[in-house]
Amino acid sequence: MVEDYAWWRLSIVFPREVEESLIWRLQQLSINNYAIQSFISSKSDPKLFIWLPEFEWEEKERSFLTRSLCELSEPFDRNFGSPVWDRIQNEDWSQTWKIHWEPDPVGESLLILPAWLKVPTIYSDRIVLRIDPGSAFGTGSHATTRLCLEALERENINGMRIADLGCGSGILGLTALKFGAKSLFAVDIDSLAVNATLKNASLNDFQENLIVSKGSIEALETNLMGEPADLMLCNILASVIEDLAPKFARILKDDGVALLSGLLVEQVSELKMTFHRLGWQVVSQKNQGSWALLEISKRNF
Ligand code: SAH
Repeated sequence: MVEDYAWWRLSIVFPREVEESLIWRLQQLSINNYAIQSFISSKSDPKLFIWLPEFEWEEKERSFLTRSLCELSEPFDRNFGSPVWDRIQNEDWSQTWKIHWEPDPVGESLLILPAWLKVPTIYSDRIVLRIDPGSAFGTGSHATTRLCLEALERENINGMRIADLGCGSGILGLTALKFGAKSLFAVDIDSLAVNATLKNASLNDFQENLIVSKGSIEALETNLMGEPADLMLCNILASVIEDLAPKFARILKDDGVALLSGLLVEQVSELKMTFHRLGWQVVSQKNQGSWALLEISKRNF
């Protein structure tokens, strides 16, 4: 997409811990033209780029925007880098951001590959999932997504029916299909995510064995048509998981398992109590930095 007017491009380094809340804030502000440059192989913090039409963003609004982003790091006791604003003529931002994304090996056997790249020879023995995230969340670089992908690699999911609640780019459910699951039922309240999941499904030749639709847990239940899933994947913020928790039992078989991510370590003990009250067992907890993944089941292990 090349427009005839100029853009403001903001570049700013941010603490890795705020990535998810940053994406939520951008969505709240209806800012869709952004990219995150993340160096998988190094420990340095990622960088956010945002492209804004120049004529709509005066100086006052731009400084309001940087303030409202920078305040997200306060709970983590970390700081954003200094914001840099560049005026750019006719930049094709939707292509530019692709330059910043690398093939991403996850766990022992998976490779998340930007759809427009070839498989690098060093990764030729890995299971490849091609992803073009568009503006939906889920490139695999975020800890909450990685925790789920690594758990999927550990579980034996061969032949399973999988539910993906809040599918974003579809990365979790499609990885499950790559690891041998039989079918996928995915939902997201954001239609961009639904479109991205469908696109990524076809990039990986999964047209037959999935149903993707716009909505939340109710849509998921309808799509399952009375036959609950073996495994549910859910990487959404703790507060949303807490609200949806009473309905989880409708989605899963009695011995089904849910992998819950998007949780800050400090939120886990309260969430565990909620699930215990609702009759669930916590099977395991895995942490990565300040993020946690919970595996829960109705069955006693
Ligand atoms: N599953 C992807 C995306 C996680 S981001 C991954 O792991 O990388 C969380 C997603 O949940 C977003 O796409 C958001 O639109 C969606 N979401 C938020 N609240 C939801 C709800 N109540 N029901 C369904 N989806 C929801």
